[in-house]
Amino acid sequence: MNILIVFAHPEPRSLNGALRDRMVATLTAAGHDVLVSDLYAQGWKATLDGADFPAEPEGARLQLTDASHRAFASGAQTPDVAEEQRRLLWAHAVILQFPLWWFSMPAILKGWVERVFAHGFAYGVGEHSDRRWGDRYGEGVFAGKRAMLVLTAGGWVEHYAERGINGPMDDLLFPIQHGILFYPGFSVLEPFVVYRAERMNEERFRAITTDLDRRLERLFVEEPIPYRRQNHGDYEIPSMRLKEGLGAGKQGLRLHRA
Ligand code: FAD
Repeated sequence: MNILIVFAHPEPRSLNGALRDRMVATLTAAGHDVLVSDLYAQGWKATLDGADFPAEPEGARLQLTDASHRAFASGAQTPDVAEEQRRLLWAHAVILQFPLWWFSMPAILKGWVERVFAHGFAYGVGEHSDRRWGDRYGEGVFAGKRAMLVLTAGGWVEHYAERGINGPMDDLLFPIQHGILFYPGFSVLEPFVVYRAERMNEERFRAITTDLDRRLERLFVEEPIPYRRQNHGDYEIPSMRLKEGLGAGKQGLRLHRA
């Protein structure tokens, strides 16, 4: 199978760099084809702006979704964006790997999403009407593909537990897992999180990489997170509210897990 790792750490000799190398070795040894988009090494442009749309008329007010749509539809995207889209289409599974920075992904990775997930490609697809709100949340360009986050965090696991001061990791990752990955159709696996990452030693590193290997072995068989699909009857149309009676006993973001 084809696997794309999108790697967002500036230092190849970091813990993240070591985990990335381990993933490449493990996946390759298992017979997969692996590509790495190493965003810092590629000098990835992190900001979405007018330079992304060279075919737009000079001096015209920049309307980003429209410009994104036109560039995607007419093949006028910048080559770096088009290449990442090709890689995504090639992949059967995509791994986003990053250190948790300010409770989210590093800016360079967010910028990769903003630029690569173009209108007409990853959003704004399918029928938009009173009956239907497009192909998203379980449908879309990446339907049938798998995605997983591999991340490291300085904080303790307890700090990210249900009553932990940072808030549950599952909630913090919701915008990425549900909003960025499930939205354009990926089946999203539970994340692989290394807590207390700065307190590492050889023994811990061995245990962590063994666990990571086990997760990678199950990349194509593990049950994905059961996020509710938009177009399968759980939501009222067109308000897109979860129907009364569903999600009993759950609140907040958990409502969207079946
Ligand atoms: P590194 O610093 O490279 O390494 C961590 C440890 O692993 C070191 O002790 C290193 O010696 C060891 N190590 C590296 N490679 C190996 C190897 N091959 N074998 C054995 N040991 C090894 N944390 C949070 O929890 N929440 C936040 O919101 C948050 N925000 C942050 C914001 C910023 C801007 C920054 C810089 C940090 C933030 N942190 C936060 C901490 C951050 O998540 C961790 O510093 C990061 O995850 C550590 O990963 P790294 O790859 O950079 O580790």
